Amino acid sequence: MSATLAGVATAAIFAIGAVRTPRPALYVAAVAVVLLVWDLPRPGSGATEIHMLDVGQGDAVALRTQRGRWIIVDVGRGWTGGDAAQTTVLPHLRRYGGRVAALILSHPHMDHIGGATTLLEATRPAALYDAGFVAPGGGYRRALETAQRLGIPWRRPTPGDSLVVDEVVLTFLAPDSAWTSTLHDANDASVVVMARIGARRMLFTGDAELAEETWLLANTPHALRADVLKVGHHGSRTSTSPAFLAAVQPAAALISVGAGNDYRHPSPGTLDALSTAGAHILRTDHVGPIVVRTDGRSLSIHADGRTWHAPP
Ligand SMILES: [Zn+2]
Repeated sequence: MSATLAGVATAAIFAIGAVRTPRPALYVAAVAVVLLVWDLPRPGSGATEIHMLDVGQGDAVALRTQRGRWIIVDVGRGWTGGDAAQTTVLPHLRRYGGRVAALILSHPHMDHIGGATTLLEATRPAALYDAGFVAPGGGYRRALETAQRLGIPWRRPTPGDSLVVDEVVLTFLAPDSAWTSTLHDANDASVVVMARIGARRMLFTGDAELAEETWLLANTPHALRADVLKVGHHGSRTSTSPAFLAAVQPAAALISVGAGNDYRHPSPGTLDALSTAGAHILRTDHVGPIVVRTDGRSLSIHADGRTWHAPP
């Protein structure tokens, strides 16, 4: 029996034992107790975990708080008749259990939002966050319409906004709406968000390219340092400029990328730059799913049966 089922069974026994000859109003009270317990997050692992899932060419990252709540950043690709939420993200979440507190979509390209509608319908997150930058194609529109139909609040974060879920503090660094109004390509309208757990930080950049990195360096230069960098745009040569790397100073760099992809991501130049900067590189096409684990002080990364420990 899973911990969740055990919790419900205990609650139901408690409720039934406390109400021996229930009248209708007490039936309602008993049901309320069960639902309340059902809604409580399962105890987590004692550490915060950030799971970069292997969704091929695309991004899908699931942060799991110590209390077992999830924050999802991007949901992988979609294709005719399926998507990465069905094949990868939802099975992963179900293996662990726990509610989805927030879905963050970095930008409206299908390798990031392809599974959004499926995930929204299956998990009903407490809120949906994205930059509100409209891209051609129906995927983004379908995701917003699904959220609206399900009553899931939609938020358009602005730089400086924070979202706190248990011990995880997310600070949105970009994009600024005045900045996105000048853009044609959604990549540079990517939601850039810093996740802070105690003294450790991980930076999520979506598919931000040189222009958005330059905006970040001009507007939030002192907020970019991170232990772990989710490398922008799958390691493309259009991202991860030397100036940006100098500001982030990542000890580890995670690249979500499909084996043999048509874009030839990641670029050898970006890999060289990350190595030169001293970053430990992990890529999903080589090691599969990657798990970052931290208690707010120490930080380790687990993939392909190996563990890497970040410097203090
Ligand atoms: Zn992408």
